[in-house]
Amino acid sequence: MNSLVPDLPKSLRARAEDSISRLRAAVSDYKNVCYANSLGSESMVLTDLIWEAVPEIEIFSIDTGRLYPETYDLIERVQARYGRALRIYYPDGLDMERWVGENGINGFRDGLKQRHSCCAIRKVEPFRRAVSGRGAWVTGIRRGQSASRALAAPVEWDSEYGLHKVSPLLDWPETEIWEYIRKKRLPYNTLHDSGFPSIGCAPCTRAVQPGEDERSGRWWWERADSRECGLHPRHRIAGALAGSQKTQP
Ligand code: SF4
Repeated sequence: MNSLVPDLPKSLRARAEDSISRLRAAVSDYKNVCYANSLGSESMVLTDLIWEAVPEIEIFSIDTGRLYPETYDLIERVQARYGRALRIYYPDGLDMERWVGENGINGFRDGLKQRHSCCAIRKVEPFRRAVSGRGAWVTGIRRGQSASRALAAPVEWDSEYGLHKVSPLLDWPETEIWEYIRKKRLPYNTLHDSGFPSIGCAPCTRAVQPGEDERSGRWWWERADSRECGLHPRHRIAGALAGSQKTQP
């Protein structure tokens, strides 16, 4: 651990050590653990923690076919830094052909049904394959990213995919994510320097104004409570919100 975080301030080192402990506990408890790398800023921290300290966790990403060029550049830079390859999963080609034939190349803007079906083919199905047979998957979500994510737990049973979901960065503030990236000179997506806090597919992601919700640049034409892609299902979040309203003052 000392060689991993030699020059970090004490509080940040403690934060990193806590996350590594959670990752090691996940491997110990669930054996076959993978990390779904979304290639955002949190992902750069988690990639560093995993490949430096818990390399038995396999890291994968999903190439939806609609990513920003900057994101593909980042994949190359990440792989060059660590001398390791991310496993990349792709959508089924025939399903994509059929969807585009029926809905148009940018048909996901025509309604929630079309948007969800595009995410289902380009993200959810490859994700389902990637986590199939695993004991747990790791995610980089943080409480500060949105009101719904504030209610997440560090370890949850993911009933949608039938495995545990581990969120070791849940309590990291955004400032410390960036402090870690800068102190360790990690690669990151250059779009973050242009006002993109959260980066997904190019046609469904835009920059946000200072002070706006981090997720407000994703599917901005939709209601705020629908802006997830299916990997963090809303029904669970809605249930948690309903429960919290009963118990919170
Ligand atoms: Fe399709 Fe947009 Fe979802 Fe990407 S984010 S899979 S382009 S709807």
